[in-house]
Amino acid sequence: MMFDPNELLRPHLKNLVPYSSAREDYKGSEGVFLDANENPFGSITEENWNRYPDPYQVKLKGRIGEIKSVSADRIFLGNGSDEPIDLLFRAFCEPGVDNVIINPPTYGMYKVSADINNVEAREVLMTRDFDLDVDGIRQAIDDQTKIVFICSPNNPSGNDVDLTKIEAILKEFNGLVVIDEAYIDFTERASFIDRLDEFPNLIVLQTFSKAWGLAALRLGMAFCSKEVLNVLNKIKAPYNLSGLTQETVFEALKDVKRKDDMVRDILVNKETLKVALEGLERIEKVYPSDANFFLVKTRKARQLYEDLIGHQVILRDRSKVALCEEGIRITVGTKSENRILIQTLKEIGN
Ligand SMILES: *Cc1c(COP(=O)(O)O)cnc(C)c1O
Repeated sequence: MMFDPNELLRPHLKNLVPYSSAREDYKGSEGVFLDANENPFGSITEENWNRYPDPYQVKLKGRIGEIKSVSADRIFLGNGSDEPIDLLFRAFCEPGVDNVIINPPTYGMYKVSADINNVEAREVLMTRDFDLDVDGIRQAIDDQTKIVFICSPNNPSGNDVDLTKIEAILKEFNGLVVIDEAYIDFTERASFIDRLDEFPNLIVLQTFSKAWGLAALRLGMAFCSKEVLNVLNKIKAPYNLSGLTQETVFEALKDVKRKDDMVRDILVNKETLKVALEGLERIEKVYPSDANFFLVKTRKARQLYEDLIGHQVILRDRSKVALCEEGIRITVGTKSENRILIQTLKEIGN
């Protein structure tokens, strides 16, 4: 049986006529451009941004495709990963009818996006060691289940979930499986991008917000089948990525080594931080991490979190999140930031 994402598509989108942008019939850069009501003189800024940007970001996708070893017709670029997440709901989930599966504790946007789109998010708790409950997922899936969201390395727990469990879901589920790899640069496992041909229902999310240090530019990636890409392209805002973002990231991608160097430094700092945290009385457990952060179990997490804020050290309180009782999430910082964190933790003591 061939998997066809078009069969999952919301009925009213099957014959959608998308917005057709100016310049779609002419790809040259020279010419008299009187088609888009732009300002012919230039911009009020020093650099000129008066022309609309490429709606399909062809140049940037070409470069990203080289770096990720994937063809450009498998790449969707969005205003952060949050954009493709939202578009997947809008494309495949009928409000009030369809549902998706999420595995708490996990990234908050899946549920928020589901809520915004009035789509039920069925919560299948992870196991105690923050792995997928595959049987629970099997039981939660019904005919109206369109997407299973899997985050690996998982936020907020930090660990990679078991590969064979992910593969089981990919093989068995006759709907879309989103694997969110926001932290892929920090883990040793290979990306699922390499397996797009094997699993036509696979969508891999990655982002420039973490390892690449470009959170403010808002650039997220979805790697998927051509069929899913077609759907996302049809329903996205025509100019969803600014010209400034496209240009800046294209230039930045000439220096991939700088990202690799920063990742290496973060991983070195991570080991030092782990040892220091484990030496603190107030920290009861540092959970295994394949990312650039740790979930820790502390005594009186909320109090600790607030005390640290009083010292201008800001962590993420996760103590109210499922399976994260007394949990705090700590991002690995620079050497001096980590030193200040540890010093402050020692000062405020018990
Ligand atoms: C940070 C993060 C993202 C990134 O979102 P952007 O919108 O690209 O900044 C995506 N998924 C997870 C799990 C994250 O932790």
